[in-house]
Amino acid sequence: MFKKILIANRGEIACRVIDTARAMGVRTVAVYSDADAGARHVEMADEAVWIGGPAPKDSYLRGDVIIAAALEKGAEAVHPGYGFLSENPEFVEAVEAAGLVFIGPSAAAIRAMGLKDAAKALMEEAGVPVVPGYHGAAQDDLAARAEEVGYPVLIKAVAGGGGKGMRRVDSAAGFAEALASARGEAATAFGNDAVLVEKYVATPRHIEVQVFGDGERAVHLFERDCSLQRRHQKVIEEAPAPGMTPEMRAAMGQAAVRAAEAIGYKGAGTVEFIVDASEGLRADRFYFMEMNTRLQVEHPVTEAITGIDLVEWQLRVASGEALPCAQEDLSIDGHAFEARLYAEDVPKGFLPATGTVAHLAFPDDARADTGVRLGDEISHWYDPMIAKLIVHGPTRAIALARLDQALSGTQVAGSVTNLAFLRALARHEGFGRGEVDTGLIDREVEALSRSPAPCTRCRAVAAAAMSMDGAEAEGFSLWAPLERSVTLGHGDGVEVLKVSVDGPGTAVVRGEDGTHEVTLRRGGWAVDGTPVSAEVVRHSAGVSVFWGNNYHFTLPDPLDVAVGPGALAGRIEAPMPGLVKAVFVEVGAEVHAGDRLAILEAMKMEHVLTAGRDGVVAEVLAVAGAQVDAGATLIVLEDEG
Ligand code: ADP
Repeated sequence: MFKKILIANRGEIACRVIDTARAMGVRTVAVYSDADAGARHVEMADEAVWIGGPAPKDSYLRGDVIIAAALEKGAEAVHPGYGFLSENPEFVEAVEAAGLVFIGPSAAAIRAMGLKDAAKALMEEAGVPVVPGYHGAAQDDLAARAEEVGYPVLIKAVAGGGGKGMRRVDSAAGFAEALASARGEAATAFGNDAVLVEKYVATPRHIEVQVFGDGERAVHLFERDCSLQRRHQKVIEEAPAPGMTPEMRAAMGQAAVRAAEAIGYKGAGTVEFIVDASEGLRADRFYFMEMNTRLQVEHPVTEAITGIDLVEWQLRVASGEALPCAQEDLSIDGHAFEARLYAEDVPKGFLPATGTVAHLAFPDDARADTGVRLGDEISHWYDPMIAKLIVHGPTRAIALARLDQALSGTQVAGSVTNLAFLRALARHEGFGRGEVDTGLIDREVEALSRSPAPCTRCRAVAAAAMSMDGAEAEGFSLWAPLERSVTLGHGDGVEVLKVSVDGPGTAVVRGEDGTHEVTLRRGGWAVDGTPVSAEVVRHSAGVSVFWGNNYHFTLPDPLDVAVGPGALAGRIEAPMPGLVKAVFVEVGAEVHAGDRLAILEAMKMEHVLTAGRDGVVAEVLAVAGAQVDAGATLIVLEDEG
């Protein structure tokens, strides 16, 4: 076994590899960019080497610098993770030329699977079913080829990946335009505008088989279903595939092993199939799509059902050991799901989000693979994945219930996330019945991406929590005034709630839409006398209520809110109880919107009260040095016109 390896990656997968290496007594070297100087993978590794600027091309894609780092630190092998250099045959050759071991397949195996047309031709030869279609070199008469294949068809860039350069065409009329746009996209993204045309599979399901080879022999570790996709990107994966029959599993497994053995595959790989599920799963309705010659993001679901650590296998086989076990030693235990937790704004069209993680907690009973910690920056430089949550159970139904539970126990503040979307999927009835296909999310995206609004009880809990002094378990402090205002921002709205403390640990909260009694006893919240499972966390970005979903509230400066309806009407009120420190205007003074009118000291801070509109001061009720209640009128402007 190696004594020391370098991990040419970042984020959760670097951490994942380091975990197993450490368990095997293998020392680790991390590499990092400027953006990752304080990252979790750097902290976890035994040593770390800086490799350049934050843009991937300046760091994680610089094979020469990474190889130099490995040599300098005395690492014997390089683990590429996924993405970045993991499927780059020139990098593999350079690693080997430097006398190091690449933990993965040979450069030749990667090349064989690199282009979709060549891979399909090779697979056909090896007796692996491929999607009917045209994948020849000649690119001139493609419309006629499409006609032969029969509509609907899918045009795919041969060098494609990540769904780029792919177009579905339903009839001859749309072919020319779709071809031109697929070629254009392929030329830009891959520098290669060659395409293939294949039958668009009806009711498609994406089912892939995990394989593992030692360079000669290969075994398969069963299938994963990755049909829950959005724009060809996987969202939730599971193993095994719902509805899979033993015959079809055997047929797919054998086809995948043939594919791997045909290219002398070494290490962990995945053979992706598209399955025509229009009549259920049938052993003659699956077709090779492509092979990913690396460890995949979703490998943990396979680990969960087989009990095998795939990274351990990778290190063992790369260091020269034979395959750790034979096909007949492998079996499936139960069912597993993985959900990809992203920093993204789902209602805004899944816009990638950034932010500083202000609070982060994962449930104890799920596996959470993450490269992110409290206080870390989610930057625009890299993939915005925060974590993968993996659950396992004896049956699909139990595993799915555990997924829902794990998602509702996941707490992230500081960035918006897709948690509510994942949870809506976990609770989707059709998904619950195992009725999945790659179009499910797109068909129902509107209902799935609605963000849950906090109810009045939830807002009342947040406001009550904000009225407590310091340590939450202490209950409501004695010094707190009898009534105070709490200003909560949520989405685009702002609400001012009145909180009256009604004895230790009890408050009555009056919001715009309702009044609730909120109590906190021994760390547990109750609303209107009923205990609730809410947890409240105050953090640098505001206050969050974790109650099934994550509800985040900002705490806007109440003074900004004072310049709200009341101030616009010419009435400046104390947004909270406090001490008037200074008054800057007299009756008759002409003021302009935004002018400073007074200073209020409250909650150990000074707040500047400003005019909400232009006008003339009609009344000054505030006196410097006076204590005022929340809502007290301080200054009134003359009525307009
Ligand atoms: P990429 O390499 O760009 O990710 P793939 O060939 O892996 O492209 O296909 C990505 C996704 O597109 C698949 O997971 C599946 O959802 C869909 N897809 C691919 N080929 C077909 C097909 N022939 N019919 C229907 N859907 C397909």
